[in-house]
Amino acid sequence: MPKKNKDEIQELKDKLFSENKHAAQRMSESELQDCNTFCEAYKDFMNTAKTEREINSFVITELEKQGYQPFQAGMQLKAGDKIYLNNRGKAVIMATVGTADIREGVRLCAAHIDSPRLDLKQHPLYENQEMGYFKTHYYGGIKKYQWPTIPLSLHGVIVRKDGSKITVRIGEDENDPVFYITDLLPHLADEQMRRTASQIIRGEELNIIIGSMPLKSDKGNELVKLALMKLLNEKYQITEDDFMSAELEAVPAYKAKDVGFDRSLIGAYGHDDKVCSYPAFRASLDVPAPEHTSVVILTDKEETGSDGNTGLKSAYLKYFLYDLAECFGANGRAVMQKSKCLSADVNAGFDPTFPEVLEKNNCAYLNHGVCVTKFTGARGKSGTSDASAEFVGEVRRILDDGGVIWQTGELGRVDLGGGGTVAAYIANLDIDTIDIGVPVLSMHAPYELVAKTDVWAAYRAFKVFLES
Ligand code: MN
Ligand code: MN
Repeated sequence: MPKKNKDEIQELKDKLFSENKHAAQRMSESELQDCNTFCEAYKDFMNTAKTEREINSFVITELEKQGYQPFQAGMQLKAGDKIYLNNRGKAVIMATVGTADIREGVRLCAAHIDSPRLDLKQHPLYENQEMGYFKTHYYGGIKKYQWPTIPLSLHGVIVRKDGSKITVRIGEDENDPVFYITDLLPHLADEQMRRTASQIIRGEELNIIIGSMPLKSDKGNELVKLALMKLLNEKYQITEDDFMSAELEAVPAYKAKDVGFDRSLIGAYGHDDKVCSYPAFRASLDVPAPEHTSVVILTDKEETGSDGNTGLKSAYLKYFLYDLAECFGANGRAVMQKSKCLSADVNAGFDPTFPEVLEKNNCAYLNHGVCVTKFTGARGKSGTSDASAEFVGEVRRILDDGGVIWQTGELGRVDLGGGGTVAAYIANLDIDTIDIGVPVLSMHAPYELVAKTDVWAAYRAFKVFLES
């Protein structure tokens, strides 16, 4: 074989090897500007809506402004009509009717709007040594030691026996108080530091301090608890029993902020999975006249395994698609068989400080675009949703033709752990489904990190997919 010169070698590499450039090297100035504008809106959203209920109501308010109507089985629909379904105030499906026959299937994007947090127990309030506390049961996979000594806010609802409902959101405004979980001082932590990391802070040690002032009196005990209950009664007209029918969630009281001198990154609580659900929601708004009916679903309970009637293991998506099909006299089963789905959830980004958990040729890098993951699962792909090569090929074409910056990667080295998404439950409905999402650093920590160019790439991916 004749010897090749350096230029020829480079030319051959350019032709034959995968390209893997930083997004900034591939984006025009004007696209970078669009990316920044989009991320400003994303940060506002992150500061406005932190929990599944808050996102549900934020999204529905916006959908109604944009002319989306509540979906009803049997309603008359035509191309361009916009509908939504509110699932119990915690999940939402939005759809825009396409010009194509519904029998050609729908384009579906799914993401989740719940994030790891600390839920209050149903008997949360107690006093210990003249301090008032809430007991918690953590929600989702957290490293428990990360949650003490940070400011916490409280979000959720309290439902009284008569059915009336109070919405709680405290700790987010500049003048609000926040809440707090203690940790031991290092001086006295010798024993604690010998516990294994999963036990450094135990579940029953995640007790939230909510006050310390007793009711003025010479006699009686539990006077701090009583004073707190009196405050709560004045503010919310509740008694202790009302906590039994409450859903109160403690989350980090941090604001979303730019990270880095160059402001290229965003730190926030709950990027998982708002960094996919917000772009998917925006894509739905920005594709007003799709060819195939577009369906965006923002679901609840992903972080605890998708069970329950607001999680994607339940039938609510299937029933919606059945009912939608019936509006056109079509068969739901046949519609699902022709449908295609991007299941959007975050992926582990490569962290140069902890390189050993990822395999560098098959993992996602920050600023290298939205990450497409052909399969999930662990230990021999157990529990996987594995998109077919044919469907991956189709998604490749849609993303490349749409000028979307994207990469491919899996969550972690083989046999090191792994994680699932809602993809399997959608694929189980006989819908072609593939995982896609934004790479995150410090996933499930109280403050997570993403790159702005990847947030933008996610939005672009959902938009071109809904347009396909
Ligand atoms: Mn997730
Ligand atoms: Mn998660």
